[in-house]
Amino acid sequence: MRISYGSARFLGLIKSGPILKMRTIYIMFGERCMFNCAYCAQAKTSQASEGMLSRIVWPKFEMGEVIKAVERSFEVRRICMQIVSSKVSKDESFDFLKSVRKLKIPISANVRVVSEKEGFEWFERGVERLGIATDVVDEKLYKLYRGGELQKHISLLANIAEKFPTRVTTHVIVGMGETEKQVVEFIQSMHDIGVTVGLFAFTPIKGTRLESHPKPSIHSYRRIQLARYLIEKNLVRAKFFKFSEVGEITDYGFNIERIPNEAFMTSGCPNCTRPYYNEDPGEESYNFFDEVKRTSFVVGKRKV
Ligand code: SF4
Repeated sequence: MRISYGSARFLGLIKSGPILKMRTIYIMFGERCMFNCAYCAQAKTSQASEGMLSRIVWPKFEMGEVIKAVERSFEVRRICMQIVSSKVSKDESFDFLKSVRKLKIPISANVRVVSEKEGFEWFERGVERLGIATDVVDEKLYKLYRGGELQKHISLLANIAEKFPTRVTTHVIVGMGETEKQVVEFIQSMHDIGVTVGLFAFTPIKGTRLESHPKPSIHSYRRIQLARYLIEKNLVRAKFFKFSEVGEITDYGFNIERIPNEAFMTSGCPNCTRPYYNEDPGEESYNFFDEVKRTSFVVGKRKV
């Protein structure tokens, strides 16, 4: 199995690099996916290294070694399993779930499930939350970059969330070519069916089909983070937002004088941190996992 470099460092499995304040440990099963998402390092035709996911390196370790290290640490609040769709990944993941049950740490599994039955099976195997990525919220771009039908995917998510309320997370990658309005409407629709949304910023990875696609602007990302926060906390509904002609958020229909820093922290499952998943350590973080150090951003004509 593989474990993200930051997680391995946090657990003392490797000795070099800074120890980051992580609350979730990220592990990966399988490599070279049977699907072919245009932006993913693990996609079928990707030329990126097999040990990469997003911009992160995932070294290999024996499963027993990782479990012992988690057992030794008292600071792990969640384990997040990234399941790359391949022949062996499901069996290995189920073995892992069986072995860590005794630790009583909540587990998220991030899987590309293809049926309700498959989704239910992960819960039966002991995951606390199931992550089913949407990534792309524009219908045409979904087909182009991920393959398949967005509407079918949404029905699958809704059916699984209906049986396991508040236990499903989905991911959205901001900056794929969609508008802010589309992201906001998607977040609201997910919130209404009890699905939590984790935001990611598009990150171009060398060797993938979208290696030359730009990252989203930090202003746009901040506007969407704030929108997600307001919707998730039931402070305002998306229908009260105002948008420009090109779908940019210009007003939230809510007083945003005092925005808590929490709005800009990593979102998704409780305690998800994923440090530097979308950014180099030297640049302003899209998602803060520790301390929020953001610059101001623009909403309509005002700076926030
Ligand atoms: S939100 Fe975080 S913990 Fe949850 S599935 Fe996504 S990456 Fe894993």
